[in-house]
Amino acid sequence: MQRPDLKGREGILSVHTRKVPLAPDVDTKKIARGTPGFSGADLANLVNEAALIAARLNRKAVIHADFEYAKDKVLMGAERRSMIISDDEKRSTAYHEAGHALVAHLLPNTDPVHKVTIIPRGRAMGLTQQLPLDDRYNYNKDFLDNMIAICLGGRISEELTLGQITTGAENDLETATELARKMVCEWGMSNELGPVSLGKKEAEIFLGREFAQQNVIGPETAIKIDQEIKRIIVQNYDRAKNLLVENRHLLEKIAECLLERETLDTEEIRRICEGLPLEDRVDESEGPGKKEAAKVKRAPVVVPQN
Ligand code: ZN
Repeated sequence: MQRPDLKGREGILSVHTRKVPLAPDVDTKKIARGTPGFSGADLANLVNEAALIAARLNRKAVIHADFEYAKDKVLMGAERRSMIISDDEKRSTAYHEAGHALVAHLLPNTDPVHKVTIIPRGRAMGLTQQLPLDDRYNYNKDFLDNMIAICLGGRISEELTLGQITTGAENDLETATELARKMVCEWGMSNELGPVSLGKKEAEIFLGREFAQQNVIGPETAIKIDQEIKRIIVQNYDRAKNLLVENRHLLEKIAECLLERETLDTEEIRRICEGLPLEDRVDESEGPGKKEAAKVKRAPVVVPQN
């Protein structure tokens, strides 16, 4: 489906905000610029969520921070703060997400990390969300290789730091494999197989040998496809691993900060990687979940008695 461009998003936003009271700090152009890849339905949802938050907090008008909060909800799913997570799980999630975030930060030619979090959202225990700076219409091979490396960064980080492999990486592997398959079979990006389209994916089929069963391509080509997918995965696995080994200190630091703050944004990741101290949190959004969480954290101050 065609996603609206900047002008289109701005238009959609002004239609949906027509009946919503907006504070003076809300600029639909700015929101449109910050939402590349959003569909019309996403944008309608965004306005709706922002209005809901403002109403819940008894604000007369929707402020810009409400839109930022709503954007994360639309992008990453609702926070599930009520979920009970053990410290061990939190630690694995922090190292896993730190791996994705660091590989994404270190590689050029990739979308910047918008946010990384260890607060469960939707079905995920944690999330590293990238967001393009501009509208993107096509991807080059370099960019796709980087996406695969970033996907694998989570699992590699867990292996390196905690010596474990968890099922949390399952989705990442699927995404990485699917990207590699498309590079080989649909986008003609494999030197071995050449610039050919080898059939589109149907339903759950995504490995070469299954294409062969459909008699779409010969068994030799099927083997080649498998080998090429594997080669792309292994190459990017090694690339991501080297980056994480070389920058192990940054990996540890990001994970530590994640455990402490639960969420880091672009600017904070940049500061960590440049060895700068993190600034105190300015109330980046007054979402109700965050306030409650802050209350819980600050509540009991126990003074030891002798
Ligand atoms: Zn992951």
